[in-house]
Amino acid sequence: MNAILTLADAYHFAAAKHVGQRRKGEAEEPYVNHLTEVADLVAQATRGEDVEAIVAAILHDTVEDTETSFEEIADRFGQRVADLVAEVTDDWSLPKAERKRLQIEHAAHASAAAKVIKLADKTSNLRAMAVSPPKGWPAARRAEYLDWSQRVVAGCRGANRWLESQFDQAAEVLAEREGLTV
Ligand code: ZN
Repeated sequence: MNAILTLADAYHFAAAKHVGQRRKGEAEEPYVNHLTEVADLVAQATRGEDVEAIVAAILHDTVEDTETSFEEIADRFGQRVADLVAEVTDDWSLPKAERKRLQIEHAAHASAAAKVIKLADKTSNLRAMAVSPPKGWPAARRAEYLDWSQRVVAGCRGANRWLESQFDQAAEVLAEREGLTV
């Protein structure tokens, strides 16, 4: 399949899978806005040279948040895309604290493309936290989220300088808003 057809199919697939879902922030943006932002960051970071990484970015939350299997992704988009999505998918059979700890641990050993997707995902989430924090999250929880995101990203450093600077900017804006130091 050619790259443009594959991208169009991935956006359509992800939008259908995440239909009706909204982001956690008080603005309740459609969830698909997060996916398009992450994919755009990955596309820019890789200068459009790794289409499978962009497709995996579009699909990165499908297995975690919708009824989608890795087999379905592999059949439709190929094994590498499914493997990349697997690299950035948490194991929800584990307790939350363990999932969060494993993200920090796994980031350091992830493939270069998975690190780029992780960086883009964390950048998008911190940007959202600054402009539209989740309802009912006290300041301490937001600060903890920023700290944990930075720990995950520490393992991704070296994968893409431009994206790391986008993350650092997002972290700075959020920290300033929260009155924290980074
Ligand atoms: Zn995400």
